[in-house]
Amino acid sequence: MLCVVIIKPSKYGMTGYVERFHRGFMPNSTVPYIRSMTPASIDGVPIETYAIDEYVQTDLKYLDLLRNPGSPTLLALVGVQSHQFQRSLDLAAFARANGVEHCVIGGPHPMTCDTTVLQNRGVSFAVAEAEMVWLPILRDAIRGELQPVYGREQRWAQELQAPVVIPPSKRDLRRYFVRMLGIYPARGCPFTCNFCSVIKIAGRQIRSQAIETTMESLRLAKKAGVRLVMFTSDNFNKYSEAKHLLEQMIAEKLRIPFFVQCDTQIARQEELVSLLGRAGCFEMFVGVESFRRQTLLAAHKAQNHPSTYGEIVELCRKYGVVSHFSNILGFPDDTAPSVREHFDVLRGLNPDIASFYILTPIPGTDQYDDFLAAGWITEPNLDRYDGSTPTWKHPNLGPEELPELLYRCYRRFFTVPHIIATAMRTFRPTSGGLLPYFGHPVFSRFSAWRKVHPMSGGMFRVRCDSAADYRELRRSRYGLDLVPLPKSLVLSQADAELNRKVKIATG
Ligand code: SF4
Repeated sequence: MLCVVIIKPSKYGMTGYVERFHRGFMPNSTVPYIRSMTPASIDGVPIETYAIDEYVQTDLKYLDLLRNPGSPTLLALVGVQSHQFQRSLDLAAFARANGVEHCVIGGPHPMTCDTTVLQNRGVSFAVAEAEMVWLPILRDAIRGELQPVYGREQRWAQELQAPVVIPPSKRDLRRYFVRMLGIYPARGCPFTCNFCSVIKIAGRQIRSQAIETTMESLRLAKKAGVRLVMFTSDNFNKYSEAKHLLEQMIAEKLRIPFFVQCDTQIARQEELVSLLGRAGCFEMFVGVESFRRQTLLAAHKAQNHPSTYGEIVELCRKYGVVSHFSNILGFPDDTAPSVREHFDVLRGLNPDIASFYILTPIPGTDQYDDFLAAGWITEPNLDRYDGSTPTWKHPNLGPEELPELLYRCYRRFFTVPHIIATAMRTFRPTSGGLLPYFGHPVFSRFSAWRKVHPMSGGMFRVRCDSAADYRELRRSRYGLDLVPLPKSLVLSQADAELNRKVKIATG
């Protein structure tokens, strides 16, 4: 038998403790995907699978799976982003020190960043999409030896052969405020925003799974008691089969509320917004980022025209969808007055929800490469690259000023009158109770008052273990205290070729 332990690692917070919550906000989408891709047996060898989202583990019992295992065990750390990378290395070091033979780390960070300095130290890296490497990894684990790196030649599959997602158990669904599940009908985004990791992780060519795969995942989710679905694809309005999927959801009367991410060109797609509303879309997340055209052009986000942002709010109102605008503070040309001006324009447009992030050069992106080459990056600890902490030397805004502006934006946006007006305007009893309409805004305001980013993972923080508990393990396995800031990985010829086929309109 092979025991497979799939963990989405959390991160170390500012205090050094692992971030853990009694109730999470958004479940990780990768964990159920990888679990759904894991067969019950391979070549007659049974596989027993455990799937764990570390953010919502409030005690350390799950680590027992990694202690003196009775049978061959594979630990897979999945969906690992740069701010979770050190935590994933520590979990792998812990597992290896306690008798687990096979460990592999996959997800955005290893896919887009050079991990050479950490290779051949008893932990493997998956640097391609799971569909391409997961079965070979399982086979090698059964055979008794993993390769140091999987998927070096090609990051993305030409065509998406994704599984029907098996929903988590009721017990695991209850770990979140709303029983929610992430589903990716498509992957990739054609645009070229220089701060974006999505195009490095999923490529610019949009690849979609069969509509029936998505429909079956939705049916199973509903049957399992999932109350909300997140279509995690960027961007849903660029997915060419979106209309057919929505029509099928309407025809089948699926009535499962869902969340989508769209680019700002949705302003010209009224028919799609109307279909979204009829199919049960409760919230549309749009990356507006900035209200200044020159800032957007400098960030290679030419497809965003601030003059159309108001139309998105109006369309969402017309078709009963909550509008959620995501904003980035601290672009290189931002100043304190320009951030205040940004806020005033946002306030005037009055989307239902807003979220704010500090511009973070995410390792693996073009912007990170530029900032690194210019010597602007000041933060050596990857744990801090989470969108809420200054990590580079801004020409106009000091390291204390940016978080102050961030939390002030949250406090000023989520005023009591705004929260009440939005809840009254948008509430629908079918969409996961009051949380999306009332709980989320109230929590955002409360978090901002405490100077904690509202999107940091959940509510009711629990302290169990900290980075200090793993320091010696990290030193002895990898020979370092902090992982050095990595170089971004260059695309292979096959991946670059796939990107070259993309045609986009930015007008
Ligand atoms: S539109 Fe969104 S997903 Fe696409 S490149 Fe820009 S930031 Fe990334």
